[in-house]
Amino acid sequence: MKEIVLIKLGEIALKGLNRYAFEDALKKNIKSALYGCGYFKVSIAQSTIYVTPQSPVDMDEVCDRISRVFGIVSFTRACVCEKNMDDIFAKAPEYLEDALKYAKTFKVEAKRSDKKFELKSPEICREVGGLLLEKYPHLTVDVHNPDVKVVVEVRDFGAYIHAGNLKGAGGIPVGTGGNAAILISGGIDSPVAAYMMAKRGVKLTAIHFASPPYTSERAEDKVQRLLKKVCRYAGPITMLTVPFTKIQEKIKDECEEELFTIIMRRMMMKISSLIAEKYECAALITGESLGQVASQTIHAIACTDEASDMPVFRPLIGMDKEEIIQISRKIDTFDISIEPFEDCCTVFTPKHPRTRPVLRFVKYAEEDAHLYDLIEEAIENVKITELR
Ligand code: ATP
Ligand code: MG
Repeated sequence: MKEIVLIKLGEIALKGLNRYAFEDALKKNIKSALYGCGYFKVSIAQSTIYVTPQSPVDMDEVCDRISRVFGIVSFTRACVCEKNMDDIFAKAPEYLEDALKYAKTFKVEAKRSDKKFELKSPEICREVGGLLLEKYPHLTVDVHNPDVKVVVEVRDFGAYIHAGNLKGAGGIPVGTGGNAAILISGGIDSPVAAYMMAKRGVKLTAIHFASPPYTSERAEDKVQRLLKKVCRYAGPITMLTVPFTKIQEKIKDECEEELFTIIMRRMMMKISSLIAEKYECAALITGESLGQVASQTIHAIACTDEASDMPVFRPLIGMDKEEIIQISRKIDTFDISIEPFEDCCTVFTPKHPRTRPVLRFVKYAEEDAHLYDLIEEAIENVKITELR
């Protein structure tokens, strides 16, 4: 039986004049998400996107991938019928078998956007309901709270039968919210921050600071694996790895120990904003959460913020670790995040990092250390990896 995926447009249907840009982005993102799954026609009509396979495909895999595309509130996997009752009758019982076999109650709903169709909606419901009761005599009809809602849709180009909606990923299509750079570590928080901003339509570029030989190739590989999980929601991501060793060593040699972390974080922000600009990103994203560690107090964040002149989004700022972990489990990054590899943040950590750094003094220390000469060199030696 020929199957199709019907995607109902949610929040994006409300976007007035932007609507076409949103629909185009969504269509493009759906095609990209289905890359390697087979061939599809992705078209739009009557506020619905039709994903029609043009070759044999694994529909479970197709639906799984579509469930992670932002901008979709709900979607359905449906059986394609010719626009006549004979064909609907021929296909409905078999197609709905899995859904109805273990159900106790059901109801039929009909949507008839083709007003020329031979029967009216209540008649379609009655006829299809009667047929299903005949084939599955254990069922009873419950119009208020059925176990299964069978839907028959008669549209312009065909009739479709399905057993209700599947939940989409919500959010808005990636690419319609501009470009931003996520500062990604191997930890739990930053992949979650990346996911959350992608959900709001932001196209991501990733920046990772590595300090070999203090950090290993396996630590970098871990970050790539995390980003690939994020790609399942955010689409392809360019990862930029910044060599950070010289800068960190210089901070260690030249600066007061209590300021190591805050100066290092300021350097990350400064370098990231320069790289971000080069890659046409208009904002930075971090996985910081207020009060989580010494470098994430209000005073410390005020100091790091000042190092870049771009807006910095911190989607996790008000969240507890438990809430962040819940999302990281949902997006399947948690198990990778807890693998024990070193991050450049854990190299040269001071015993007592300052929790109330004063910007003026931090800047003096930074200037005295002549760190700025090393920034250009780090940016010139950025390594580019394309992930999908
Ligand atoms: P995470 O779990 O994301 O590592 P964290 O709680 O360990 O966060 P920090 O190590 O203080 O916190 O890092 C705060 C933020 O700084 C991270 O969420 C991330 O956005 C950024 N960051 C930390 N280390 C790196 C790195 N090596 N490369 C790029 N960004 C980093
Ligand atoms: Mg970290």
